[in-house]
Amino acid sequence: MISSSRNSVSDFDYLSKDHLKEIQWQKFETVLQHAYDNGPWYHAQLDQLKLKPSDIKSFDDVHKLPFISKQVLRDTYPFGLFAVPMDKIVRFHASSGTTGKPIVVAHTREDLAVWAEGVHRSLLAYGVGPGDILQNAYGYGLFTGGLGLHDGGQALGVTVVPISGGNTERQVMLMRDFGATVISCTPSYFLHIIDKAAEMGVDLRELPIRVGAFGAEPWSPEMRQRIEAEAGIKAYDIYGLTEICGPGVGAECVHQDGTHLFEDHFYPEIIDPETLEPLPDGQVGELVFTTLDRFAMPMLRYRTRDLTSLVAETCPCGRTIRRMKRIRARSDDMIIIRGVNVFPSQIEAALLHIEGTTPHYQILLTREFGGLDEIEVKLEVVQEFFSDKIKDVESFQKLVRHEIHRITGIHVKISLVQPGSIPRSEGKAKRVIDKRVI
Ligand code: ADP
Ligand code: ZN
Repeated sequence: MISSSRNSVSDFDYLSKDHLKEIQWQKFETVLQHAYDNGPWYHAQLDQLKLKPSDIKSFDDVHKLPFISKQVLRDTYPFGLFAVPMDKIVRFHASSGTTGKPIVVAHTREDLAVWAEGVHRSLLAYGVGPGDILQNAYGYGLFTGGLGLHDGGQALGVTVVPISGGNTERQVMLMRDFGATVISCTPSYFLHIIDKAAEMGVDLRELPIRVGAFGAEPWSPEMRQRIEAEAGIKAYDIYGLTEICGPGVGAECVHQDGTHLFEDHFYPEIIDPETLEPLPDGQVGELVFTTLDRFAMPMLRYRTRDLTSLVAETCPCGRTIRRMKRIRARSDDMIIIRGVNVFPSQIEAALLHIEGTTPHYQILLTREFGGLDEIEVKLEVVQEFFSDKIKDVESFQKLVRHEIHRITGIHVKISLVQPGSIPRSEGKAKRVIDKRVI
């Protein structure tokens, strides 16, 4: 396996700060003008603020531009943020919204190339290259993980095994039979693969697998340690979000000390989530991105809700692009369960579709160390239910489970509890109790 952690594509990881800024600014001017000229939504926003693209004269003026929140993507569903005609759009992806309607993101052919480059550079940063076999166990489909790693892996020239998620026994079998050297999936799914392999009598440490590209959900240093020890691989972070493209917005390098952001494509800012004022490098706040060269649906100052801080110093790997610290929290109520984004309001909406439920519920998240996320919804039901026969209770639970699955795509456990037993709160209700060990 000959892998070099550098090629001509990754040269942009090593530019001087001034050169990088120059490139960023050139791209920024172009994309802002494009959004204004071709995206009716962006045009209306700037008009409302009495701004013209030419009023933004340097990055110091960027704060004058409005933010884009997830709500904007919901309000403009499905096509309201597009800034190119449909005949330039070659693919849609989507991620969960709050009410059953997803967030839609469109890509031109060139947008897809930018995204693939992000993944390509991520894999390079891990020391992966042609000759490596990538078992891509991220889900294929509207979710960005599968096709994101697929396109980026192919762009770099590794051998991609498009196995998608699930069917864990087959994952282990093919990993062994094909001699996969790299695996990509959520870290929690990989823990499941580790357990399944043990059950099948396969010792992953004996296999050629040596690198994991793990992301789409938060994970901890403890989880990394466990994965590395049990599977005999190096576990690296890959970060991204559907609105900006998908995985490959940033990735760790072999030093595993922060996730490098591919800033020449995705311009990051950190803001105070309360005051919305920009914060300097080193301070923790909400990460905001501007896509510098995506045209189907440019994201200008998109609020990710991810809380982190940026590190400006050159990394020991030589990369000058900034790193972000591990994401540990979000500033909204989105929860990520087995890599699927879920909002408590979706669960609430599902519950309220069903007769006999009350608006009093709690979402309990658990994950035994090394296990998969489990989600239980505790639900108060009207008194009558407790006098009914058990059989009715079971069919009622099934109905609730189906409805939640229909809206969120996840399977939950339902427990019915006595009316009045869920603690009432005087302020914001604590809907989510997250006991997961990550
Ligand atoms: P993805 O397809 O990458 O999961 P989504 O749009 O569904 O994209 O979810 C994006 C969110 O997932 C991010 O805003 C962040 O909260 C979380 N996320 C993605 N990658 C990571 C990561 N490596 N570490 C922590 N959180 C992550
Ligand atoms: Zn580095």
